[in-house]
Amino acid sequence: MNGFSYRGGNLFAEDIPVADLVGGVGTPFYCYSAAALRDSYASFVSALEGLDAEICYAVKANSNQAVIGLFASMGAGADVVSEGELRRALAAGVSSGKIVFSGVGKSRSELTMALELGCGQFNVESEPELDLLSDVASGKGKTATIVFRVNPDVDADTHDKISTGRAGDKFGIEFERIGDVYAYARSLDGIDPRGLAVHIGSQLTRLDPFRAAFEKIAGLVWDLRKQGHVVDRLDLGGGLGIVYRDEVPPPPTDYADIVRDVFGDMGVSLTFEPGRRLTGEAGILVTEIIYMKESGGRSFAVVDAAMNDLIRPTLYEAWHAVDPVIEARAGAAVSPVDIVGPVCETGDVFAVQRDMPELNAGDLLAIRSAGAYGAVMSSTYNSRPLIPEVMVNGDQYAVIRPRPDYDTLIEMDNMPDWIAAD
Ligand SMILES: *Cc1c(COP(=O)(O)O)cnc(C)c1O
Repeated sequence: MNGFSYRGGNLFAEDIPVADLVGGVGTPFYCYSAAALRDSYASFVSALEGLDAEICYAVKANSNQAVIGLFASMGAGADVVSEGELRRALAAGVSSGKIVFSGVGKSRSELTMALELGCGQFNVESEPELDLLSDVASGKGKTATIVFRVNPDVDADTHDKISTGRAGDKFGIEFERIGDVYAYARSLDGIDPRGLAVHIGSQLTRLDPFRAAFEKIAGLVWDLRKQGHVVDRLDLGGGLGIVYRDEVPPPPTDYADIVRDVFGDMGVSLTFEPGRRLTGEAGILVTEIIYMKESGGRSFAVVDAAMNDLIRPTLYEAWHAVDPVIEARAGAAVSPVDIVGPVCETGDVFAVQRDMPELNAGDLLAIRSAGAYGAVMSSTYNSRPLIPEVMVNGDQYAVIRPRPDYDTLIEMDNMPDWIAAD
């Protein structure tokens, strides 16, 4: 279930026609379904039943406080990668002990802030980070609970730019060096090494890379224990894929079966950090066609959303389904159209030669599976204000981030007094 379906030829977000939302916020805007978010979270939870497991939602997938707060209200913690995300998670009601701090480049001030706030776990990605964390923690008389992010050298078989677990990727500590680093950590003040973390990439649609990585981690746990180390926590990251086109991503139950198989009797508590899987399909981007034009023998639909609002097609050549908000009649003829934004970049394209029914200026389109790595990656390029986010809940909705006005955007700059306009 993704919360969006046609009723009588109109695309609905739960019980509200998408077209009815336009009057309230204007286009373009993101729209999320609360029911779909709850559903994806609940199916993850039920798949993990019987395991000693905690879900720390990967905030970077969609960091709107309403989204974080919805998951927190269902018991989720948060996986954060910056001070900003840490602050957002706290503001949304996640307790600090349920926050995992990940990321390859945590700064001294971020580590200090996270220690002061009582962050539950630090996922350490290098020895210099370990030294810095020890310095900060011991200086404050605190102890940081840490796990080491391992680079297992496993290819996640996903897009190159979202693969994170191959030797030579910037993430984690080399598999072979974990034993030494673990021993070193035990000699440091303010550091309590408790286990390992692994996250091999995003939008995985096959399970065998997970199994390969998990088996390597399990072997490492036994080795570390043999060396006398305490290993009672494992953080298995995120990465489960979703449907953009015709993928058949594995259900969380099959994923959980592998986890049970590999770690079931190891006596470890487990953390999961799903992001995309919880929010991706639960969101759409609604945009209006400004112009139809013909050029060079091609048809273009120029829409009011652009790459600054949703950069996935430009950045990853990602394919998103695009559906008219008013459904075409059954059997209507289709023809290929390029769906493009107004930004002055040739790469500002949402869909290339996409078979679409007849389109006209003023028509609304829904870009599907836009709930993850959508709004969070947006920018104000071309001085376009960030677009609003709306959350629908049954027959009610809320604007969970309004559209800023142009003054707010422009007033962010300061004009030095030594630049004088004529
Ligand atoms: C991005 C990220 C996640 C979430 O990945 P998804 O593919 O969105 O589930 C989890 N853990 C870490 C460390 C990450 O960097």
